[in-house]
Amino acid sequence: MQPFSYYRAIDLADAFGAMQRDAGGQVIAGGTELVNWLKEGIVSPPVIVDINSLPDLGAVEANAAELSIGALARMSDVAAHPQVQRNFPAIAEALHKSASQQLRNMASMGGNLMQRTRCPYFRADVDLACNKRRPGSGCAALDGYDRTAAIFGWSEHCVATHPSDVAVAFAALDATVHVRGATGVERAIPVTDFYMLPGDAPEHDNVLQRDELIVRISVPQSPVAHRSRYLKVRERTSYEFALVSVAAGLQLDGDGRITDVRIALGGVAHRPWRLAAGERALPGTSITDHAAIRAAIEGAFADARPRRQNGFKIELAKRAVVRALQVAGGNA
Ligand SMILES: Cc1cc2nc3c(=O)[nH]c(=O)nc-3n(C[C@H](O)[C@H](O)[C@H](O)COP(=O)(O)OP(=O)(O)OC[C@H]3O[C@@H](n4cnc5c(N)ncnc54)[C@H](O)[C@@H]3O)c2cc1C
Repeated sequence: MQPFSYYRAIDLADAFGAMQRDAGGQVIAGGTELVNWLKEGIVSPPVIVDINSLPDLGAVEANAAELSIGALARMSDVAAHPQVQRNFPAIAEALHKSASQQLRNMASMGGNLMQRTRCPYFRADVDLACNKRRPGSGCAALDGYDRTAAIFGWSEHCVATHPSDVAVAFAALDATVHVRGATGVERAIPVTDFYMLPGDAPEHDNVLQRDELIVRISVPQSPVAHRSRYLKVRERTSYEFALVSVAAGLQLDGDGRITDVRIALGGVAHRPWRLAAGERALPGTSITDHAAIRAAIEGAFADARPRRQNGFKIELAKRAVVRALQVAGGNA
């Protein structure tokens, strides 16, 4: 590990000032990701700027219009928040199914959205080809282990997936990431636009600029959010990242037919993957009609491109979507 200095910022301006004094500095919140990157040699910043003392970034509040989650709110506090559990169950479930209780107590919501891929070549403790970690070095997963790789939106430069669970729930529920720059200017970015596909520059995970920080995440109140669920399929039942996950929310009419629906998948792409074609095809389908739901979502998988070892993810994802919809609809 390279030596670095540590600076505890007292407000946002102070944090940005410290970052600008030492180019390449990184902020730290819970440290559950960043400390691993330091140990693995993935990053070696000259200074680490601790943002935990910044005021007003830890609140979790809900009003009639939206849920607002401060970037420094801890995952465990958000998961246990009564308003989140009642009106945004997919968010509470996604957080409960993430990492471990100890990690959730430390980890911040801003840090969660900024976590990076769990591709074994990116995380390796020896130097392997990885365009995300060392641009231009290649992608060892192309000819190597690709069981956990993407099936949607990957490129010849990177087949990694994004690992955050709660980002999938946020994507399904039309959440917005609010970021603030060093000049005080704020941007509001839909979660679905926050993350990037790998293209030919997979070193970029998202659109956050170097002189910006996440300050909060907002999620609109909606009947779909109130009736949402998160289903996570993994190699073991706890303390594991998703092979495939689904966040689904819906509204039903009096006959049990879907009138409105949102679906996002995790574990299948470099970003949470909204199933837009499925959302368009599902309205009118009875929540009890398994075969009709399955038929309605088929078209959304037309763009799936399996690799050598991960073709199973397509069938797994389809089954998980049907199951998540039926659980959200109260029919499973
Ligand atoms: C063993 C293990 C298992 C895990 N399992 C899961 C899982 O199943 N599901 C899941 O979703 N996650 C999982 N995680 C990831 C975990 O959720 C993240 O490590 C955690 O959320 C990161 O938050 P943090 O506050 O500790 O971030 P830090 O480590 O402090 O920071 C991570 C990154 O975010 C940046 N950052 C932090 N705050 C901000 C901000 N406000 N604005 C801009 N940038 C910021 C930092 O500069 C750094 O680049 C797991 C982690 C571990 C170690």
